[in-house]
Amino acid sequence: MLRPVTGEKLTFEEEETAMQIGFIGLGNMGAPMAANLIAAGHKVTGFDVAGVTVEGATMAGTAAEAAAGADVVITMLPNGAILRAVADEVIPAMKPGAVLLDCSTVDVASARAVAEKAHAAGLGALDAPVSGGIGGAAAGTLTFMVGGDDAAFATAKPLFDIMGQKAVHCGPAGNGQAAKICNNMILGVTMIATCEAFALADKLGLSREAMFDVVSTSSGYSWSMNAYCPAPGVGPTSPADNDYKPGFAAELMLKDLGLSQEAAEAADADTPMGHAALELYRRFVEDEDGKGRDFSAMLPRFEKRSRS
Ligand code: NAD
Repeated sequence: MLRPVTGEKLTFEEEETAMQIGFIGLGNMGAPMAANLIAAGHKVTGFDVAGVTVEGATMAGTAAEAAAGADVVITMLPNGAILRAVADEVIPAMKPGAVLLDCSTVDVASARAVAEKAHAAGLGALDAPVSGGIGGAAAGTLTFMVGGDDAAFATAKPLFDIMGQKAVHCGPAGNGQAAKICNNMILGVTMIATCEAFALADKLGLSREAMFDVVSTSSGYSWSMNAYCPAPGVGPTSPADNDYKPGFAAELMLKDLGLSQEAAEAADADTPMGHAALELYRRFVEDEDGKGRDFSAMLPRFEKRSRS
């Protein structure tokens, strides 16, 4: 039975609810997520091609070995092609009724294809991409956007409660990824709009403090302005105050904008702003100095530029 201990976190009587978890992909996000599950008393068998280890986890030699006997197999991988390959390997190794829980950010089509294969093999499947970044993964405060059936969601819910602060069930398979890329398309567009408006305000002689004070309490307000202000020394502390060290790296924004345009093409949706944001971040990361910088470093980019 779940019972509260300190603060907001939950723990349980181990013998009653400890799950056997396979965790595949122990990178920047996966390793701290796995560590939180272990700290809460779950038994984790991990696998990563890079040979990473996580304290308290049993390390397996293959993905299939990590998945065998698990109640839930969690994947946290770089992209849809890798997810599809790993799913092909682990699905036949999983026990009937177990749940394949993918937390990576991947294309909607891959999420739906993997769920279909899992269902055909008698497994539950969820796509549950996250927002909250590396800090949220370490602190156990991620937000999960979840697609998949109710029974699988109920099985995974106690794990979401450990790894995150919120899990929103968005509908059937693929809908978690759909929610994530729509959200991040808005974020990319509003960050660019916020940065270009700051650069214009500079050239019009408006102080950044005045710009923030007005916009953050007027109709131009947004998360990009109010919670993650791209201007250093203005508004709440953000990566701008730390020389634009990520944070949320520009190349991750580029990845998510690419996924949203891929989905828009497949669904025949007209997304001109999302398309423009993708092209700007592509140029920023591939041709300019954006790689390795926070996605809000669009502001110094615009600052240096003129109209031509
Ligand atoms: P990462 O590159 O640090 O980790 C990915 C891990 O997967 C690596 O350790 C890699 O060795 C491993 N891997 C690759 N192929 C594998 C295979 N075939 N079998 C087993 N392991 C394999 O990336 P990350 O930052 O941890 O991100 C993981 C996912 O989370 C991505 O889809 C990313 O878009 C998403 N995400 C990341 C952030 C962030 O801030 N880093 C935020 C939200 C979502």
